[in-house]
Order: sequence, then C-alpha cells, then structure tokens
Amino acid sequence: LLSRLSDPSLLPAAGLVGGQWITEADSGRHFDVDNPSNGEVIASLPDMGAQNTRQAIDAAHDAQKKWAAMTAKERGAILRRLHDLQLENADDLATILTMEMGKPFAEARGEIVYGASFMEWFAEEAKRVYGDTIPGHQGDKRLVVIKQPIGVVGAITPWNFPNAMITRKIAPALATGCAVVVKPAEQTPLSAIALGVLAERAGMPAGVFNLIIGEDGPAIGRELSDNDKVRKLTFTGSTEVGRILMRQCSDQIKKIGLELGGNAPFIVFDDADIDAAVEGAMISKYRNAGQTCVCANRIYVQAGVYDEFAEKLAAKVGELKVGDGFEDGVTTGPLIDKQGLSKVEEHVSDAVAHGATVLTGGKADAHGGTFYEPTVLTGVSTEMKVAREETFGPVAPLFRFETVEEVIALANATEFGLASYFYARDLSRVWTVAEALEYGMVGINTGLISTEVAPFGGVKQSGLGREGSKYGIDDFVEIKYLCFGGI
Ligand code: ADP
Repeated sequence: LLSRLSDPSLLPAAGLVGGQWITEADSGRHFDVDNPSNGEVIASLPDMGAQNTRQAIDAAHDAQKKWAAMTAKERGAILRRLHDLQLENADDLATILTMEMGKPFAEARGEIVYGASFMEWFAEEAKRVYGDTIPGHQGDKRLVVIKQPIGVVGAITPWNFPNAMITRKIAPALATGCAVVVKPAEQTPLSAIALGVLAERAGMPAGVFNLIIGEDGPAIGRELSDNDKVRKLTFTGSTEVGRILMRQCSDQIKKIGLELGGNAPFIVFDDADIDAAVEGAMISKYRNAGQTCVCANRIYVQAGVYDEFAEKLAAKVGELKVGDGFEDGVTTGPLIDKQGLSKVEEHVSDAVAHGATVLTGGKADAHGGTFYEPTVLTGVSTEMKVAREETFGPVAPLFRFETVEEVIALANATEFGLASYFYARDLSRVWTVAEALEYGMVGINTGLISTEVAPFGGVKQSGLGREGSKYGIDDFVEIKYLCFGGI
C-alpha cells in the first residue's frame, strides 16, 4: 500500500494520543487490516484498548480548555487548512480508502471531497454560534443566553465511509471548541490515521484530535461511555450497537448522538419520469455496492409503471461493472466482509424461496471473494426479509402497489426512519407524500441527498441528532442562561 502513495508518511502504523503516535511497540498487541478486494493484509497496526482510550480522554480533557479559549476564527483557520490538505492529498487518501474498504477509486475520491466539505462548512459556521438576549421578566433583571462547547467528545464510526463519517462528526465538534477521541471501525482505520497526520500538519494542537485504533470496539466504547470526562458520545453504525451505547451512557446521562440503520423506501408513482426514477434508483441503491445507511432498500413501484420500471432498471444494472476498485470502469466493489456477503445471499435466497423472481444478478459474482452481482428482484412481498431488514448490498427488491395510502402505510411500516425517496410530478401528491413519510430525510425526484449544507439524520430508531448544516452545531454546544439581577 505504501508504495502506491505519493506521500507514504500519511500512514504511520500508529494511533494518536495527546500528540504522541502510539505504535505496536507501545501497545504490545497488533491487528491486521486487509483489502476486501483480494483478502491481502495491507497493514499491521497497534491494537489499542481501554487503557489507551483513558489516556486519550485525559489528553483531550487537558487540551480542550485552551482550544475552546481560541476564537472561532482561529480554530476555523486550522480546520480550513485541514480541508485544503485533504483536497491536496485527495489521490493518496482515496487510494488508502479504496484499499481498505473496496469502493471504486472515483467514488473514494468523491468521499474525500465530501468529507473535506464538512471542515470548510463548520469552520465558517462556528463563527456564527450566536446566543440571545431575552427581555427580562422583572424590572431589575437582564437575561442572556450563551452557547459553550460541550467538552470532550468521543466519536465511534463505521467502515462504509471511512473518511466522511469521521469528518462529519469531528468538524462541528472541533469548530465549536470541543476536543475529540475518535475510534474508527477496525476494518478501516487507515483513512483515520491519514486524517490524524493531516490534522497535525494543519496545526491542530496536541490532544485536540486523538485517535484510538483497535479491534475491541466494545472495550473502547465502554471506556468512552463510562469515563465522566467524556461529555458526549457520537456514534454512527448499527442500531444494535447504538442501543448498547445509549444504555451505557444512561448511567451518567451522557449526551449522545446516533446515526443508525435505515430501511429506505424508494417509491415510484405512475406520474413519475420513469427514466429519471431509474437513474435515481441506480445512484441510491448501487452506490458503494449498496452499503450505505441511506441506500434505497425497498423499491415500491405503482402497478401501471411496474413492468416498465423493472425492465429499464434491470437493463441499467446489467451495465454495472463489478471488480477491484482500482480497475478502470469498475462501478461495484466487493462487500466489506464475509458476514456482509452472507446477509445478502440470505436475503436473496429467502426472497426467491417466497416467490420472488431474479430479473438480473442473484448470486455471488464470478470474481469470488465477497463480490456479489448487482441484482434486481421482482414479485417481492412483505413477508420476505428484504421487506423488513436492511440488506446492505447491491440488491433491489421491487414491490408492486396500487394506491398512495397503501404505499405510505408500507413505507412507514418499519422501526427505522432515516432516508426515503419518491418520484412523482403531481404537486399535491408530492406535498402529501413528503409530509406523510416518517423519515428524517426525503429525496423528491432525486436519489442523492447528502451534502454538508443540509441536516442528515433520522427519526424513530434511526437515531438522535443531526449532522451537517447549521443544525449540526447544536449537538456540540450547551446552552447556558445568565440571569443578571440588581440592575
Ligand atoms: P457495522 O455493522 O456497520 O460494522 P457496528 O455498529 O458493528 O456496525 O460498528 C460500527 C462501529 O462500532 C465500529 O467502529 C465498531 O468497532 C464499533 N463497535 C462495535 N461494537 C461496539 C460496542 N459494543 N461498543 C462500542 N463500539 C462498538
């Protein structure tokens, strides 16, 4: 891997605690990172655990007050430099990302640009963390509200966006004056390490950005939950782990931000532009080999346009190219690991056993490993697993529906509420459906909704809080009310 980078110094085999790079010699244990495309080991890293996490929290705690005392403009300048460095090193960062995660290089590069955008956005936004003056309730009183950084923030992130899921959390935290302890997924720690190197180069003071890499997520998560110096835990990952962390944080009433699973409906009404809907479904469903929490998971198509949509979608899906992310023209990389592959296989065989038809794909790809063929299933019904669970793979199950009421009920019949999408042209239908969908985000005539300027987040069991946009600041500040008397 190092030989493919124009700047190999982006990747020390180490975590970062209080400005010190912690190597395997320090931690005494190691773990391997592999390339999901071919199973080759690409790095051996120190396996850091609860003790290193404690040290990182102490370092963050020591560094935070000074960091918070800087002006938002000064902190913003450092974040802005980090943004610029991320873009200057985009090719290397994308190479690292594709190697450890498998997504096609062009997509990885897109993630680096997207990831950097949060640093730019929050560097600007933190200058506008305004308070309030409130007309007093008594003649001799004056009331003021100020906003202060919450303190030390723990951030636990998943493997599907190894760069952007970190920047989306730490950019608002750092911009408002918090210090962070980041724990990336064990499958994809390398992108996080490179980010740590760039943070140092951008002039981030020691201890403000700490990085714990290790295989024992539960032990690290336990320390981040139980340590009272951590004032907020922010997590992106499975709903199951989100529940564990919420439970753990309840002991200290610790603030928590959660971005959890989704089960996104994608609805095509009979007045939709079908070609546009097919385009949208391709982006929403097959990006990142279907491994995003906002990927279309259940595609509902109104009866009158069902066959046309299915046929056009299958034709487009047939054009996708599966393979190693560095190969030219590849659109679909491997699934992250064997468990990921098994889940997809199980969902497809369950659907077929219950009467679904495979229009295209439907089996493991000829490349072997964890590659899976981009798949379209028709004749899908509610008793199948694909109707209830997040598949997290390149499989589009097509459900047929008749009425608006019916599809709203179907779309909302899940404990999740992250992203949803629909295609329609009738104005009144567009508003009615947009309001009726119980989701934090609705894509209307588009399959791509993520941007740093808009609030990303879910309702129901998909999470708590919002990331990105002006609202993303709120998660990292506390409101303090000052009551001036005797005036
Ligand atoms: P996924 O299914 O996407 O791998 P997970 O929720 O298992 O999602 O993982 C997301 C992140 O949570 C990873 O960084 C992982 O190491 C971490 N993690 C897993 N289990 C725990 C836990 N019990 N406590 C804290 N973090 C955990």
